[in-house]
Amino acid sequence: MRYNWSRYLRLILAGIAGSTLVGWYFGFPLYGLLTGLILYLWWTLLQARRLYQWLGNPSGSDEPPQSIGMWGHIFDSLHKLHQGHLSKQDSLRSRINRVQDSTNSMREGVIMTNTRGEMEWWNDAAEYLLGFQRSTDRGQYIQNLIRSPAFKAYFEKRDYAEPLELNSPARPHIHLEFQINQFGDDDRLLVVKDVTRLHQLEQMRRDFIGNVSHEMRTPLTVISGYLETMVDHGDELPAKWRRAIQTMATQSSRMEALITDLILLSMIETGEHSADQEPIDVSAMIGQIGNDARALSGDNNHQIEINVTGQPLLKGDQKQLRSAFSNLIFNAVKYTPRDGQIVVSWRADKDGAQLSVKDTGIGIDSSHIPRLTERFYRADPSRHKDTGGTGLGLAIVKHVLINHDGHLEINSRIGEGSEFTCHFPRERLIDGGPDQAVR
Ligand code: ADP
Repeated sequence: MRYNWSRYLRLILAGIAGSTLVGWYFGFPLYGLLTGLILYLWWTLLQARRLYQWLGNPSGSDEPPQSIGMWGHIFDSLHKLHQGHLSKQDSLRSRINRVQDSTNSMREGVIMTNTRGEMEWWNDAAEYLLGFQRSTDRGQYIQNLIRSPAFKAYFEKRDYAEPLELNSPARPHIHLEFQINQFGDDDRLLVVKDVTRLHQLEQMRRDFIGNVSHEMRTPLTVISGYLETMVDHGDELPAKWRRAIQTMATQSSRMEALITDLILLSMIETGEHSADQEPIDVSAMIGQIGNDARALSGDNNHQIEINVTGQPLLKGDQKQLRSAFSNLIFNAVKYTPRDGQIVVSWRADKDGAQLSVKDTGIGIDSSHIPRLTERFYRADPSRHKDTGGTGLGLAIVKHVLINHDGHLEINSRIGEGSEFTCHFPRERLIDGGPDQAVR
């Protein structure tokens, strides 16, 4: 409703004119005018005081003071505005309550932290899974409540592409998966899932493969031993058995290699993120593997070159790293035709280190590359009989690198060759190691 200002102005002027007229009637027109003005000022101050008292009313829901003219209009408009705000506040509060109720009904824990990593809000599931307490933990640094070094590193890394798995600090029998999402000005929303059952199944699968492989190893060693003895005395065997025994010996040594790789893979997987921290001279290690690769190449006459740039000392597990690097270098020999070139390079600088194995071999079609590190995945299944591989080599490489906080990069073009690069973070390098030039 619009207010009629000119009418209000006319009323005031009429009032003042009236009081002047009354003054004039008694012979004091100026006093009459002054009295009119003072009365009007007094009334205005009175209305302003009523407004002030009403606005200062903490409940804010009282009816507005009644008045006439402009002041009555101001009181009504302010009252309407206030009612509007109250109803918006109510609907906002009920929406927030709904969101809180729905997040509280979730099985996943949800935690909100601010830019400094202080806890602002969390739901009931987070309270159960992580043992937070509303009365004391609001405003605490989340890293003071989840005290695992792995969580601290994950939280501070700000690369949340992969989730983190940890045991619950409050209930160690619960295995949790943390996924962090960033929003606003570096605020973070953590979603915590109970993955105990999946973790147990995964553990059972690993244990099963590890146990079966161990159990098969002994009888297989006996069979292989006898078969080798028979192959050694092949002349004494009837001719029709010689070929069969030879084939059986070849297949049983393939099975032995497979079982050795399965046991190694299950060991590496079980020890995920816990690689030993012994100093390893990568330069010496790839030198030795290079010699073995030359022996493997034999008459195929591959040119095998080894370059080492920067400091060669890496913290890690000797056995695991040897296995990963051998798999890559031997693969280069297996998948590169005779007279091909293989370059093994180690480069370390302030950003970290890389070991790359580059060959001029058969290459891999880009459609296979994302799946190459899966167990038993082969780019060209028809070839694997020739190479004698187990199909587990790159799976081993991937898990060894995970244990060393690194990752594998594969670049390849069919018919042109491949490059496999192992990336290690700066923290894995040992400072002050001998600097080696290209050799
Ligand atoms: P395998 O025992 O079959 O070599 P890996 O896990 O080591 O198993 O490798 C998986 C597959 O990746 C191989 O079967 C092969 O198709 C492909 N591959 C690995 N290394 C190379 C390479 N240097 N050049 C071409 N293909 C490769």
